[in-house]
Amino acid sequence: MKIFKLLMSLSLVLVMAACGKADVNAVKDKNDKIQVIATYSIIYDIVKNVGGNRVEVHTLAPVGSNPHEYDPLPKDVQLTTDADVVFYNGLNLEGGNSWFEKLLLTAGKTGIEAPVFRLSEGVEPKHLTSKGKESEEDPHAWLDVRNGIKYAENVKNGLIKVDPEHADVYEKNAKEYILKLEKLHQEAVKRFSEIPGEQRLLITSEGAFKYFSEAYDFEAAYIWEINAENQGSPEQVKTVVDFIRSKKDPVLFVETSLDPRSMEMVSNETGVPIYGKIFTDSIGKPGEDGDTYIKMMEWNIDIILSGLTGK
Ligand SMILES: [Zn+2]
Repeated sequence: MKIFKLLMSLSLVLVMAACGKADVNAVKDKNDKIQVIATYSIIYDIVKNVGGNRVEVHTLAPVGSNPHEYDPLPKDVQLTTDADVVFYNGLNLEGGNSWFEKLLLTAGKTGIEAPVFRLSEGVEPKHLTSKGKESEEDPHAWLDVRNGIKYAENVKNGLIKVDPEHADVYEKNAKEYILKLEKLHQEAVKRFSEIPGEQRLLITSEGAFKYFSEAYDFEAAYIWEINAENQGSPEQVKTVVDFIRSKKDPVLFVETSLDPRSMEMVSNETGVPIYGKIFTDSIGKPGEDGDTYIKMMEWNIDIILSGLTGK
């Protein structure tokens, strides 16, 4: 009996010790991966490149979806609460229905000390041009690869802030990645130089090409200026249809992250076929076309070039 009691108390001690150990383990192990939240898939991919095997990244707006307006799932709230760091675009991208602001509030990630970083920091903002919206920023800075480089630098700085012990890893990864982005930008400039000036016109559903157009010298036309409630109204369709009719050889593209029906309507009205898909607000699904930021930009370069030159 005495032995039994002794065993009982021993096992109790063991259980308590085990619990104590579990508590210690719950405190972050030095080699644990940094848990990262990205608001959409393009940031998700940039973070994966800069963070390498030090990070585990979750994208809120899933690959292929429109990040302007998103309804976080309970899982997103949990992951954001537990995350070590959150990266977002800013420039009004995550502003639709205030979904991101509300999420940060719920997840307890507000205040100047919160590990939440805006990747468009350092980008010269462009503004919307629609009547009454001139004070609103245009979010699509990443479509100019030089801004993508700024995003990568901001990711590096953010990761170093939350995980300074591995600064050397982030520095190295960022350096290699930025080198690739610099090459990509040069390639875009060089290849687009083959397109004659008068053919440099992009027509898409959303007016996502302000930064891109300035960087690579294009004119852009669209059905609606920014993904919001008012997409593809009859007036918007009429305006772009009239514009297309006034052009010699217009080429239509449709975004992978949008419902194609508005552009199909424009195509039917004008008799101009949709030439192909283009990536703006999302990378492609894993294993499919454009499944990284670099690949989506390469895809865009190829399709714009062949669409506008017939090559
Ligand atoms: Zn967009």
